[in-house]
Amino acid sequence: MTPYDNGSSKAAKAANERQIAARPTRDEAEAAVETLLRWMGESPTREGLIDTPARVVRAWEEFCSGYGEDPAALLNSTFEEVEGYDDMVMLRSIRMESHCEHHLVPILGTAHIAYLPDRRVVGISKLARVLDSFAHRLQTQETLTAQVADCIQTALQPRGVAVLIDAQHQCMTTRGVHKPDVSMVTTSFTGAFQDDRDLRDRFLGEARRG
Ligand SMILES: [Zn+2]
Repeated sequence: MTPYDNGSSKAAKAANERQIAARPTRDEAEAAVETLLRWMGESPTREGLIDTPARVVRAWEEFCSGYGEDPAALLNSTFEEVEGYDDMVMLRSIRMESHCEHHLVPILGTAHIAYLPDRRVVGISKLARVLDSFAHRLQTQETLTAQVADCIQTALQPRGVAVLIDAQHQCMTTRGVHKPDVSMVTTSFTGAFQDDRDLRDRFLGEARRG
């Protein structure tokens, strides 16, 4: 699945199936890493590098484990017995690890996720797992932020969702313009967080504290 593909449209599904059918083998992936090493001027047969292609492929398996997951399914089990609690539920300062789709280098930062329940609530760790599921794919921060908000809104149907991600892109901090202290902030709001300025300000205030 591509980061932009939520699997909902027929065309997207067909494209996804083609992609899976054309998926290279693990051996081919390792050979590609070996090619990259030789291109760098390295000797892939020297002791330190002999297992590197296999290690790199295993690492990428972990970095991109989100492709095999359905984030919406994580929100399937909900609770209604919350004694009428109907205020904002917020998970603050969640560590976020992703990889940029332009350079394949890390995007590291913090996410804040809130929703305004409509009777149903989810176990809070599920919000972090939804983030991880989308983050463990090749991403842009903008896409990731929107995907997390849309997924929670669609699957849980709360009165609103707010997501703020504050992250550093290593393609900008360790290469290119080399600006180590710059972080990028993206937000996505749905429902009440779009319409109610006070609610949005409370979320942003809490996020700022984190
Ligand atoms: Zn990049």
